[in-house]
Amino acid sequence: MSILALINQRATSPEWTIGFLGVIALAGYGIWGFVRWLLSGPVSPDPWDEQVTAEVAKEEATPLCHRCLLPHEVSADFCSHCGATVGQYTNWLPYPYLFSVGHTLRIGTIGNFRHSPLTIGGFLLLGLAEYALFSPKSFSPAVCSAF
Ligand SMILES: [Zn+2]
Repeated sequence: MSILALINQRATSPEWTIGFLGVIALAGYGIWGFVRWLLSGPVSPDPWDEQVTAEVAKEEATPLCHRCLLPHEVSADFCSHCGATVGQYTNWLPYPYLFSVGHTLRIGTIGNFRHSPLTIGGFLLLGLAEYALFSPKSFSPAVCSAF
């Protein structure tokens, strides 16, 4: 109801109101179609069959590093070979999380990853999100006087 009140306040003509409601209806139909398309896809994106899925789900299965594919201990937080984060909850722990972010940014600076505009933009955004606020430049007198 508040949307209709807002429309009535801002509308200068009934055509504008009808057009606005039409755009909202089209957007809702588009979102509904997108969600329906997402839900109609395959349930599991695994490229292997049920036997491999059952083997992977076993408790005694040896975990592998997602980066170098070498086995590691179940309780390990980081891969002893390549340094990648392999622990199930490592990225949720405040202290080990810093090492995980450092490892990721180190990969970005070394350049040992698949270069695409998405990955390069992702590394730039991650660097800005993690360290732009706490960089020495952000504590300059001009910025601090704003607070
Ligand atoms: Zn590894």
